[in-house]
Amino acid sequence: MTSYDYDLFVIGAGSGGVRAARVAASMGAKVGIAEEFRVGGTCVIRGCVPKKLLVYASKFSGMVEDAQGFGWTIPEPSFSWQTLIKNKDREIDRLNAIYLRNLKGSGVEVFESRAVLDTPHSVKLAELDKTFSAKNILIATGGAPFIPKVAGAEHIITSNEALHLEELPESIAIVGAGYIALEFATIFAGLGVKVSVLYRGPQILRGFDSDVRDTLAVELTKRGIDIRCNTDIVSIAPDNAGAGGYVVDFKDGDSLHKQLVMYATGRVPNTQGLGLENAGIDLGWNGHVVVDEFSRTSVEHIYSVGDVTDRVNLTPVAIAEAMSFCETVYNDNPTRVDHEFIATAVFTEPEVGTIGMGEEEAREKCRTVDIYKSRFRPMFHTLSGRDEQMLMKLVVDGDSNKVVGCHIVGPDAAEMVQIAAISIRMGATKADFDATMALHPCAAEELVTMREKWTPPEDEGNQQAEKSQGSGFGIEFSG
Ligand SMILES: Cc1cc2nc3c(=O)[nH]c(=O)nc-3n(C[C@H](O)[C@H](O)[C@H](O)COP(=O)(O)OP(=O)(O)OC[C@H]3O[C@@H](n4cnc5c(N)ncnc54)[C@H](O)[C@@H]3O)c2cc1C
Repeated sequence: MTSYDYDLFVIGAGSGGVRAARVAASMGAKVGIAEEFRVGGTCVIRGCVPKKLLVYASKFSGMVEDAQGFGWTIPEPSFSWQTLIKNKDREIDRLNAIYLRNLKGSGVEVFESRAVLDTPHSVKLAELDKTFSAKNILIATGGAPFIPKVAGAEHIITSNEALHLEELPESIAIVGAGYIALEFATIFAGLGVKVSVLYRGPQILRGFDSDVRDTLAVELTKRGIDIRCNTDIVSIAPDNAGAGGYVVDFKDGDSLHKQLVMYATGRVPNTQGLGLENAGIDLGWNGHVVVDEFSRTSVEHIYSVGDVTDRVNLTPVAIAEAMSFCETVYNDNPTRVDHEFIATAVFTEPEVGTIGMGEEEAREKCRTVDIYKSRFRPMFHTLSGRDEQMLMKLVVDGDSNKVVGCHIVGPDAAEMVQIAAISIRMGATKADFDATMALHPCAAEELVTMREKWTPPEDEGNQQAEKSQGSGFGIEFSG
């Protein structure tokens, strides 16, 4: 029998790699893991966690404004970007240390080095001048920002650099309109930066329900974010003549001056230079590792999880894929990950929470579709005075009466959708939602009190009727 240095060698210590390494070790495997940057990966070091901390920071300006309607007088507040970044970095260091400690505590050998496949059964750590053999190899190398070819690309930053700016810019152009672009737009706008979002397509948040897209665009604009759709950029150049910063030139001849330009135009799988092709591993159209439902690559003993496989690029998904991998390989129990009904959020201000099919997708996939939706001013803003509308929308398969989509734009949307996800995944019908007693007064009660099917407005009168739908208190507030 062939003997190997390790039962499992994991390349990449992010959400998926760390979980797989720890769990495989706890199941008795001898595990090594290599990380070329920092243990914890994108989510912990330069994704979900630092981003959410900055989102929290950005909310205070709005909260100070809103407080006045509740009787609070708050002296002119001031903000220090340097303090925020220092405190954020301290928290990231703490998490990084916990991840490292947990790996080592589980008996995993950690190598702080880039790793590449040397042969189908061995991994080379160039920086440490070491090569190890392994019975199984797990590729969990995640993704990296994608920057399209544009003149002046060397001047732009990505979300990686945005988390480490020495100074808060006075203005920024953010190119792209996916969740990362819009979350950073919210962060910067909340901290007082003049933000323009530049996007080639007709509306922000491609792939989301159209009401969510339209509502968020309106609300972000009210919060001072300048959203420019159908915008094609031809070049970015330093503004040597003016007050510094950069000039962004558009295809239609227009231009924009901003102190910084950030691109958030998608991410690409980290497979370049890993030696995967030599090992016979099939790669997909954008370089992602092609895997089967058990996360196995085209080479029998090599598996891959997380963003590098470009299935659903979210932290909980990478973790679930890692858990399934361990169950399949180390517990002899072939286990698939269910990629249906994954709740997700956009941590903008206001927030988006969504699960399941949007209206457009449902109309393509279901024979009949019933829509229930409500727009209202959240109770909080009746006193804050802020002009902000909340959207609640349920998409129902008309044949089975099952709720197949739930979409919320407004405060705490992420928290609500996470809970709604349980019932929707279990196959709850609209009748189940209706039979659920409302919790009053809260915004979420709207989800169980929407009775009127929405019909597309045919005339102005109907449109007005839709606008005034929803009390904002879910059920009529009678004192
Ligand atoms: C700005 C931003 C915000 C995000 N916000 C959210 C959110 O709110 N919620 C959510 O669920 N997801 C969010 N994500 C996505 C989430 O971070 C990823 O889905 C998740 O981190 C994927 O985990 P992974 O294990 O596949 O890869 P990663 O976490 O990216 O880990 C891969 C690791 O492999 C390392 N590596 C790469 N190549 C090599 C090599 N050759 N040798 C050694 N090491 C290597 C990398 O340095 C990295 O540490 C966000 C991402 C970004 C960029």
